[in-house]
Amino acid sequence: MELVRRVNSMKEICRQARTNGRKIGFVPTLGALHEGHLSLIRRVKEVADVVVVSIFVNPTQFGPHEDFDTYPRDLARDVDLCIVEGVDYVFAPAEEEMYPPGAQTFVELADLSTRLEGARRPGHFRGVATVVLKLFEILRPSVAAFGQKDAQQAIVVRRMVRDLMLDVEILVLPIVRDEDGVALSSRNVKLSPEQRQAARAIPRALEAARELVHRGQRHPEKVVEAVREVLEAEELLSVEYVELVDREWLEPVTGVEGEVLLLLAVRVGDVRLIDNAVLRAREG
Ligand code: AMP
Repeated sequence: MELVRRVNSMKEICRQARTNGRKIGFVPTLGALHEGHLSLIRRVKEVADVVVVSIFVNPTQFGPHEDFDTYPRDLARDVDLCIVEGVDYVFAPAEEEMYPPGAQTFVELADLSTRLEGARRPGHFRGVATVVLKLFEILRPSVAAFGQKDAQQAIVVRRMVRDLMLDVEILVLPIVRDEDGVALSSRNVKLSPEQRQAARAIPRALEAARELVHRGQRHPEKVVEAVREVLEAEELLSVEYVELVDREWLEPVTGVEGEVLLLLAVRVGDVRLIDNAVLRAREG
C-alpha cells in the first residue's frame, strides 16, 4: 500500500498501471472510514486490478455554516484499514493540490443539484461534482463505487458521467447499517448515546413506509405522513424533509408505482443525518 499526496504522482502511477493493461478501480471518500466505505472497497477489489481510495475532506462541498472544521479526520487509522483491505493506493492530497490558487472552474448540474439536499445545502453538489470530476481526471479509473446511502449524490454522479461522456463505470452499492438499523455514517461518532438511541427511529420510519407500500398504499402523502409520525415521536429528532421522488430526476411522484425513492434528512442536535429507501410497489 502506498500513500500518495501529490496529484502528479497519482497521475503517473495510474498512467503506468493503464499502460500495463491494469484496470483501475476507485472509491472516493471523505475519510473516517467505516464498514460502509469498506463494502465499496471490497466490491471494487473484485472487479479491478488496482484499487485506489481517495481521502479528501473536500472544502467546496461544505457550506459556510457546515461541519468542515469538525468533520472527523484520522488518516493514520484510515490507512491501516486500507492496508487490511488490500488497497493499493490511498490518495490523500492537500487542499492546494486539488484547488490550485486561483481555481475558477466548477461543475454544475442544472436541476438535479438544486433539489432536496441541494436545496438545503446550496453549492454542495457543485462541490461534489467538481471534485469527483477532478479525481476521475487524475485517476482515469475504469470503475468507481458510490454508496446508495447518498442517493442523490449517486444520481448526480451518474448524470455527470453521462453528460460529459466520461469513460468510467459507476457502481452504486447498498447501504450498510449497524445492528440497530442506523445507516453507518462518519458523522455518527458525534452522536451522544441518547441521540444515537433517537436515531433508531430513522430505520423504523423507513420500515414503516416499506410496510405501508407493501400493504398497497399508493398515495405518497400518506407514506410521508407515516414516516413523519415515526420520526416526530422522537423529541431529539427534528425533520428537515421527507419526500417520495422518482429515481432518475428526483421529482416528487404523484403515486407510488414501480420503484420510488423515499429520501429523508433529520437533525439530531448539531448532527444532520440522511437516509433513504427504495420502495417497490407490487404490480396489479
Ligand atoms: P463519504 O466519505 O461520506 O463521502 O462517503 C464515501 C462513499 O461511501 C460515498 O459513496 C458514500 O455514499 C458511501 N457510504 C457512506 N456511508 C455508507 C453506508 N452506510 N453504506 C454504504 N455506502 C456508504
